[in-house]
Amino acid sequence: MIEGGVSVSTRYAAVSESVAEACQKAGRDPSSVRLLPVSKTHPEEMIEELVAIGCTRFGENRVQEMAVKASRLGSGVSWTLIGHLQRNKAALACTVMSELQSLDSLELARVLEHELEATRLDQRLPVLVEVNTSGEPTKNGIAPGEVMEFTRELAAFGHLDPRGLMTVADPDPVRADAGFAMMADLQRQLKDRDGQGWDELSMGMSGDYRAAIAHGSTCVRIGTAIFSQRAPRSG
Ligand SMILES: *Cc1c(COP(=O)(O)O)cnc(C)c1O
Repeated sequence: MIEGGVSVSTRYAAVSESVAEACQKAGRDPSSVRLLPVSKTHPEEMIEELVAIGCTRFGENRVQEMAVKASRLGSGVSWTLIGHLQRNKAALACTVMSELQSLDSLELARVLEHELEATRLDQRLPVLVEVNTSGEPTKNGIAPGEVMEFTRELAAFGHLDPRGLMTVADPDPVRADAGFAMMADLQRQLKDRDGQGWDELSMGMSGDYRAAIAHGSTCVRIGTAIFSQRAPRSG
């Protein structure tokens, strides 16, 4: 599908290249950062175009939309939920998602544990703990100062597989940079405490993924730069 004269798969390739460049600049192996296309609000035809070039996983922020797209696109595609999950939608979400990057409360962990116990006995759901690094009250996520305790409590949930942290950064680049540094520091503390795990750091979106990669991101969530008319900026 062509939007603004450039196809979705062309923009995906450009972003992918730019991610690799950012890795190189940061002295990191490009394979250490996964590019998660965020397809929210965008039509299935665009997703299909990316499936055709080998993308098999997409990020969505609403359960209902994710479920509809999942049923239409079939089993070759898997789904990561990156938006706030309300408890009353957890059951539906558990039938669709294969990863949750927005775990933001113990209540949600409890509900998920209950659902997963009923539906996926032998599989643990990979989860990332969302951290509110910007301090904006409208944003979801655990306060940075509570991350150590929160993650300790997660050990009680046998059907959850906590693999790391996720954040939506402050729109201001200087504050975003401070937030990314804070995330890297939290990750170091978790690794030191537990001696293993916590390898995932999901941070960086269309406007700030280069900075996030410089700070150790392992997953950049890119919507606009891939799916909308606005071409990715170069450099
Ligand atoms: C929409 C969204 C993204 C992608 O944002 P873009 O700026 O469009 O790349 C990433 N993460 C979350 C949690 C989102 O809701």
